[in-house]
Amino acid sequence: MTKILILGGTTEASALARQLVGDERFEPLLSFAGRTQNIPMQPVPHRVGGFGGIEGLRDFLKEGEFTALIDVTHPFAAQMSGHAATVAEMLKLPLLRFERAAWQKQVGDNWLEVADMDAAAGALGEKKKRVFLTIGRLEVGSFQAAPQHDYLIRAIDDFALPAGINGRVITARGPFTLADELDLLRTESIDIVVSKNSGGAATESKIRAARDLGIAIVMVERPWLPKVATVDTVGSVMDWLGDVHTSSSARRGE
Ligand code: NAP
Repeated sequence: MTKILILGGTTEASALARQLVGDERFEPLLSFAGRTQNIPMQPVPHRVGGFGGIEGLRDFLKEGEFTALIDVTHPFAAQMSGHAATVAEMLKLPLLRFERAAWQKQVGDNWLEVADMDAAAGALGEKKKRVFLTIGRLEVGSFQAAPQHDYLIRAIDDFALPAGINGRVITARGPFTLADELDLLRTESIDIVVSKNSGGAATESKIRAARDLGIAIVMVERPWLPKVATVDTVGSVMDWLGDVHTSSSARRGE
């Protein structure tokens, strides 16, 4: 059996886990950071919480005798992806990253592309606006620097707004339909949207809805990630795993 650690927290990590169910070549363990209160039911064994930095991940992989590491974290989870690359190199462990394609600007889009969340707060401008923040919970504090705006913040779990940020939190977990996103942007009188360029179908409707309504988007570009072998389909991850299994079985003389 080939033991695989899957760094997850994304729809694609769960899709990969479903593909691995019943495949007797593999023993997968799906890992979550624990950023949301409830983790949906998973088809394979899972664990929750950080490993304790680079050393913690190294020890976890060694002690668990894992044969391969797959990084299917969110495109903005740069620290975890960095740790995965460092530890794979240290242990000479096969590592593959799944990276979904970024959203591409299309005709009709009015994007202000910025490097990070602080720049996003600055890009909203001086004049008071009704802002739809769809960036999750962790980096909302950056918008304390732009207290003149009125924020509608969507996150998976409810949380208390940091001091100085006016607005309200709504909770929802994607996928979201275009009709629902159009309705939300209209009924909430949104002037501008802030989004990470996460890519993927589950949350793309807000981009299309903003385009249809002529609403600007402050689009936060993806962080830099170390160069490792990367694919963009779950099928390609399965092909890679098949190759890892064949070579590791040969090494073990199976
Ligand atoms: P991060 O900054 O890359 O990781 C911070 C630490 O969280 C890691 O060093 C690790 O702790 C732990 N961690 C992250 N992913 C893990 C996993 N799959 N299994 C176990 N531990 C994990 O990532 P983040 O803090 O989760 O989020 C960064 C950005 O990604 C944010 O913009 C967030 O909104 C976005 N994002 C993340 C998720 C998610 O599920 N993590 C989902 C959607 C969006 P140790 O160093 O202790 O090992």
